[in-house]
Amino acid sequence: MSEKPEKFIDENGLRLDGRKIDQIRDIKIEIGILNRADGSCYLEFGNNKIMAAVYGPREVHPRHQQKATKAIVRYKYNMASFSVEDRKRPGPDRRSIEVSKVSREAFEKEIFTELYPKSAIDIFIEILQADAGTRTAAINAASLALADAGIPMRGLISSCAVGKVDDTLILDLNKDEDNYGQADMPIAMSTDGKITLLQMDGHLTQEEFKKGLEMAQQGCREIYELQRKALIDHYNNTQKEIIQDAPVESVKDISTESATEEDPVISDDVPDNGNTVNDDEIKEDIPDEKEEVILDEDEDNPAIVSDETEDDTLE
Ligand code: UDP
Repeated sequence: MSEKPEKFIDENGLRLDGRKIDQIRDIKIEIGILNRADGSCYLEFGNNKIMAAVYGPREVHPRHQQKATKAIVRYKYNMASFSVEDRKRPGPDRRSIEVSKVSREAFEKEIFTELYPKSAIDIFIEILQADAGTRTAAINAASLALADAGIPMRGLISSCAVGKVDDTLILDLNKDEDNYGQADMPIAMSTDGKITLLQMDGHLTQEEFKKGLEMAQQGCREIYELQRKALIDHYNNTQKEIIQDAPVESVKDISTESATEEDPVISDDVPDNGNTVNDDEIKEDIPDEKEEVILDEDEDNPAIVSDETEDDTLE
């Protein structure tokens, strides 16, 4: 374990890692990288490296956990034994159970669980590398994995911590600031500004608490913008890939802006989705002149009535 630094903030107001007091660490986001999960996200938050995978809505096992009127949300936070300086004993411990519980509660109200009665939405978090703030980084990743899985939500959840070192409030603590600081307060916030998680370690005055909360909320808003951009970029790229994979002819047809009779938008290469009508079908819909004449002459003769009239007769 590293030694306690003498000072956390230098004479220029910068922290030991060069950040300003209200600056979050760099964030890198990759969405949809696990093939077997319904939704996934790899996220780096400073030196934290996190993988989030979402499965569901799916059947609940064990069955007794299922709820008749809504889906249950399960959240499993796991810290890999190699993710920290001193090897962590593998498997769940009191800390990971606590982190899983508060993180699940941060999402439960934001997901439209009532749309999926008797089912489960499972969120798995693997901490591959830890450097303080893993629960907040994991919540950011989980939020994107849920969106990637297409789980209907009221909005995204964004999360970061505020803390205190050298009697100064700082945003998004790193490992030394977390270990030796005076306070650590992680929060999670919904897109419309609702606080869905708030924890606190250490001491803050009422004034510090209010100011710290504002700083953390501002941090969450910045993270939300990054999450939103990552989702938009991901789906833009996915769209491009789909068009690249499509047969050349249909790509040409999609891009055709004005269709003429010689160059119709719907070509034989476009898969029929059941809504397209071909010329033969149109011809069938035009009443046969000969049949119409006979019908006019002998309407009651069931041998020459159309299918439609026959159905009416049966009714
Ligand atoms: N940590 C560790 N071993 C553990 C648990 C935590 O080394 O068994 C480190 C890890 O870097 C973690 C940091 O302590 O990020 C702070 O942990 P805390 O419980 O405050 O949660 P976090 O800030 O990661 O959400």
